[in-house]
Amino acid sequence: MKNCTLSGILLLFSLGLQAQTTVNRDPAIAQLVADVSADSLRAHVTNLVSFGTRHTMSSATPKRGLSAARQWTLGKFQHYAKQSGGRLTAQIDSWTLQPDGRRIDAVTQMGNVMATLKGTDPNDDRIFLVSGHIDSRVSDVMNRTADAPGANDDGSGTAAVIELCRVMSKVPFPATIIFVAVCGEEQGLLGANHLAQRAKDEKWNLEALLNNDIMGSNHSPDTHITDNTRVRVFSEGLPGYQTDSLAANIRQYGLENDGKSRQLARYTKEVGERYVDQLEVVMVYRNDRFLRGGDHTPFVTRGFPAVRITEMNENFAHQHQDLRTQDGVEYGDYVKFMDFDYLRKNTAMNLAVLANLAKAPSMPQNVTVEARSLTNSTSLFWQAPKAGNSASRKIKGYYVLMRETHWPFWQKKFYTEKVGLTLPYSKDNYFFAVQAVSEDGNESLPVIPRPGLR
Ligand SMILES: [Zn+2]
Repeated sequence: MKNCTLSGILLLFSLGLQAQTTVNRDPAIAQLVADVSADSLRAHVTNLVSFGTRHTMSSATPKRGLSAARQWTLGKFQHYAKQSGGRLTAQIDSWTLQPDGRRIDAVTQMGNVMATLKGTDPNDDRIFLVSGHIDSRVSDVMNRTADAPGANDDGSGTAAVIELCRVMSKVPFPATIIFVAVCGEEQGLLGANHLAQRAKDEKWNLEALLNNDIMGSNHSPDTHITDNTRVRVFSEGLPGYQTDSLAANIRQYGLENDGKSRQLARYTKEVGERYVDQLEVVMVYRNDRFLRGGDHTPFVTRGFPAVRITEMNENFAHQHQDLRTQDGVEYGDYVKFMDFDYLRKNTAMNLAVLANLAKAPSMPQNVTVEARSLTNSTSLFWQAPKAGNSASRKIKGYYVLMRETHWPFWQKKFYTEKVGLTLPYSKDNYFFAVQAVSEDGNESLPVIPRPGLR
């Protein structure tokens, strides 16, 4: 929220529009955020690097290569399962790939290492995914024998996933969270494609994917910037799925900046900054960087809300490089180039977003804006969410969010306990959305209203 996020304070506008100041951190989430440890993250990254290379086609040996790194990661997940009271299960989702004439030139055993923290509410089928990629590479993407430490790319994202699993598996969440170290990113997003297709085939109610890739260092040698207070969230504004059939609606109502992934990016910014001090989440209005790809894309193209989280200033001497010193510059993706307090903050930001989503009710249903009468006020109507609205798990109410049409994030929140609200602001001049809110103040993702009659 404008003006407020740095202090973790939100201005909440009540129905009468009198402003009140409220600290809006859920203490249970704040406690988990505080449990994310830079030392623990350093240990995870150091262990991942100790396998020498994690190239997708590296040989399977007990101590070196991707297969050993996968087994180690599975072991971490299984260890955390013991503290979960049976809610966490871990497995490797594996399959075999034949040579594809591109970046796979031998029969290759693939495997995504997954830990599923089952939600405790049987009526809540929502799933939230957080990913990093476990594989690494050097200058030649086909080089499977050279040392490829992959400390930051993407030991950082994989360590974040392991750390999130460590902290979050201790406590119950109503909805399901899946922690995944995907494989084959460098060979063409192979693990993410497999998982996104599985989510589609099995009709997962997947409401968000946070993809973490290169997020534990923040020194740019070419622009001389060292700053560990900002992190990027990349998102696509248009729906990456059925774009053509939705285009007319998007054009008519000006919704090019309100696709599901952009909404998730906005939510990530607001909730991440609410819980993590000294961190600004910078929204970048594109799906990814120039000439680069990421594991969120196979999800985006299948219609799932998905964003990429990446450090603010990448150091290209430390990515995809043969280990060497050349013209006085040391090349290679080493642990020593990372900033673990920065990785801690970025991991904690993921935690805040995942926990807030998984504790929230599901989204309100059939959200509409009254569009028949010409008026300068706005009436919105909706129905209660499907999940999170039972006797044991009550919703508190709803937020109607509002922003000017040119503004990047929501500017005002109006709270109501009813399933409709009329505001003295014109629907022609602002965007609106509705969130459901739990008793602990956890908000669902916002829903943009459809024009309707009432
Ligand atoms: Zn990467």
